[in-house]
Amino acid sequence: MSVKNSIKLGISYFFRWTGFPIEPTLIKIGNPTSESPVLLTCNFILTVKRVLKAIKNLDCYLLIAPSKGINVWCGACGDDFRTDSVLSILKTSGIDDLVSHRTLILPQLSAPGIDPIIIKKKTGWNIIFGPVYAKDIPSFIEQKFCKSEAQRIVRFPFSHRIEMATLYFFILSVLVSTIYWISAFFLPILNLLLYLDTILIFVIIIYGTMLILPSIPTETGKTKVWIYEGIILLIIVLFNLFIIFNLLYLIWNIIFSLLITLIMAEDFHGLTPIYKSELGAKTWKKGDKKMKFLFGEYKLQPYGQIIIKRDKCIGCKVCIEVCPRNLYLFDENDKKVDLRNPEKCINCNACVKRCLAQCLEIN
Ligand code: SF4
Ligand code: SF4
Repeated sequence: MSVKNSIKLGISYFFRWTGFPIEPTLIKIGNPTSESPVLLTCNFILTVKRVLKAIKNLDCYLLIAPSKGINVWCGACGDDFRTDSVLSILKTSGIDDLVSHRTLILPQLSAPGIDPIIIKKKTGWNIIFGPVYAKDIPSFIEQKFCKSEAQRIVRFPFSHRIEMATLYFFILSVLVSTIYWISAFFLPILNLLLYLDTILIFVIIIYGTMLILPSIPTETGKTKVWIYEGIILLIIVLFNLFIIFNLLYLIWNIIFSLLITLIMAEDFHGLTPIYKSELGAKTWKKGDKKMKFLFGEYKLQPYGQIIIKRDKCIGCKVCIEVCPRNLYLFDENDKKVDLRNPEKCINCNACVKRCLAQCLEIN
């Protein structure tokens, strides 16, 4: 990797929502032949790095398709990683001449944005939606493109929560530190000790929110965040009143922790991959197609309840293949599907967009 791309990679970790593209291209991994698998991913530099790491021991081709440098899921839901992206790299990469087959493996999470029927019609390539995570690609290929249930499901494990918390901690602390130290020129009360105290509150609220809250069994993200904040506020008050006896710190800590909590509570569920964005749902209900949050503006897909027109279902199982929450159940008796635990649907729209019989709707 070039020095420029290494620097880009480092920055992209913390500023990923702005998009960090690399040139769309075709990469040969190992010693591929005309029979070797062809994989495709988006051109977000961090995703490319992770996919390359996961497939480094395979012999295959990897197509990097344009997505404005946005990651697979956000790109597919926000219209940046779409059918055109796949068509363009298929046509310009020369892959047609390198392989004898026409099977292309896409990340499962690209399903909301990419239409396999159009791609087949325009290029002759058959699309298979592979596993959710790049680390599962080798076993998916080894199993002759069969995806286990575990490989279809999006998770939010401890390591991902730490990563997400670090991301938000970094972004918000850079912003707050800048404002704090500029203000300190005019307000001598803002000293180093108060700054360190501020950062400590930051760590407790942001990391605590990400690490603990997904386990709190309340319905809304807002309730989770405010329950946690209530406990933190109590600790802050007791600590200030009985241990350091400092009124200034007490007032500052209360105001500051309430401010961060307001930001986190705005759409805590939407910050995770396992819950529906409450802000997105609210914005969609108001009739807006775009939502503003923190520093970005995001295109919305429809929010609402999934309705199955069961009589039209042809039992193709595509919804099962693309649902990252594993909510569809196949009924062997009548060869149709049912939705279980609909409250767990995150409205990614993958099933609705890819249903071959168009019998799924969002109401
Ligand atoms: S049921 Fe919900 S979570 Fe599953 S694919 Fe459909 S919209 Fe996405
Ligand atoms: S994708 Fe549509 S037609 Fe196919 S099984 Fe699911 S609901 Fe039925």
